[in-house]
Amino acid sequence: MKADDFHAVVDVLFRNASVVDGTGKPRFVADVAVTGDRITAIGRIGNIAAREVIDATDKVLAPGFIDAHTHDDGYLLVHRQMEPKVSQGITTVVTGNCGISVAPLLTSCPPQPLDLLGPSSLFRFDTFSAWLDELRASPANVNVVPLVGHSTLRVRAMRDVAREANDAEIASMRQEVELAMRAGAFGVSTGTFYPPAAAATEREIVQVCQPLKTYGGVYSTHLRDETDDIVESIEEALRVGKALDCKTVFSHHKVAGKRNHGRSVETLGILANAAKMQPLCIDCHPYPATSTMLRLDRVAQSSETLITWSRSYPEAAGRTFAELRQSLGLTDEQLLEKLRPAGAIYFIMDEADVKRIAAFPLTIFGSDGLPFDERPHPRQWGTFPRILAKLVRESKLLTLEEAIHKMSGLAAQQYGLQERGTLQEGSFADLVMFDPDIVKDNATFDDPVQLSDGIEQVWVNGMRVWSDRCTIPSFSGRVLFRATADAQ
Ligand SMILES: [Zn+2]
Repeated sequence: MKADDFHAVVDVLFRNASVVDGTGKPRFVADVAVTGDRITAIGRIGNIAAREVIDATDKVLAPGFIDAHTHDDGYLLVHRQMEPKVSQGITTVVTGNCGISVAPLLTSCPPQPLDLLGPSSLFRFDTFSAWLDELRASPANVNVVPLVGHSTLRVRAMRDVAREANDAEIASMRQEVELAMRAGAFGVSTGTFYPPAAAATEREIVQVCQPLKTYGGVYSTHLRDETDDIVESIEEALRVGKALDCKTVFSHHKVAGKRNHGRSVETLGILANAAKMQPLCIDCHPYPATSTMLRLDRVAQSSETLITWSRSYPEAAGRTFAELRQSLGLTDEQLLEKLRPAGAIYFIMDEADVKRIAAFPLTIFGSDGLPFDERPHPRQWGTFPRILAKLVRESKLLTLEEAIHKMSGLAAQQYGLQERGTLQEGSFADLVMFDPDIVKDNATFDDPVQLSDGIEQVWVNGMRVWSDRCTIPSFSGRVLFRATADAQ
């Protein structure tokens, strides 16, 4: 193409960017051209006609971040600009984690923890493909990697979820997994920590998830126990993954409760050994606190519990469990009764474990945010900039190249995303441009809905979705396809 061509030959031309390409390789200075939805050139690009030229001097240009653990299933439909995510440089979200997905389920009264996904009006899809159809018809500002939740399937298939599924129920759930995989799910998530699936046995999960074998999906698990029985729980998940001959994703890996602090040395050792025998990865976020439905076992294990929302006593949001207990003069059980259904943040982990887990070579990052919470955990708005600020710039736990590899290239590899996750010619133009010297999260536990600093511009499939601290309603996100998808 000659520079004097009448038509612009590229749509966007970044000049002098510090390219961190997502592979883990050292950064290099280059020009990057985008045409349509693809990256079309990287290197010293001479005089070329471009619709837009961006001076990226001293800025990092990287593949858009992949939020490997989200609960955005419903949020994507009603907040399509996805401000909490694109403002962090995220261009792809993995949905349906922890056993809970909005589809396939028709209900006006989703039981906890399904209600963490948002209002009951979201549970309006009788099939997984109906939800995907709506996402495709009204796309959001980010790409979607969908998982189907085993707890959702249990609530759908079983009258009484407090026992193991019988053969007919297993057959019905297996059929739903088959349909979801055919429709485009990347795999199944389970959450045996939670009431709707606590009675599910290993055998049930292996039976229900059989289609993962055929379709090459992932098995993603919120372990049965992340406290004293963490090792038994990891071993159970490894057996399930092995029986299904598929990749096991260990969600938000942690060792919770004071007496387990430090045990990530042991759990990561087990996982590193297991990884020699079977495919697996881990996701985590950079905070020592977690968040989910309000439950007394978690309260007891935590140094502090902060209420994020309460349907029956909304004024509790933002207050601590201990302070409410005292000021209302109630026992733990009475306070739980007064608040529920409710959500909470639990200060339950040790900083050293959090860092050790983040640095583990098979770890990718996921915010695990609960997007409809009134007073959410700050991870919903701050996870990725916080990693760049705290784990890269301040503590130097990770190099910038390592952190971005985990946020993009490695995550894409673990989920089998094609032509995404690395900045190379021919790949889809999911990009983030940020200032590495100032990028940081501002969301805190006291003030959790805050934009980060330093994330300057974000593109999804070649369209800008974030610029100058504002979202742009491009809605260029796509439902991504499994690499191993069988032709239907
Ligand atoms: Zn979870």
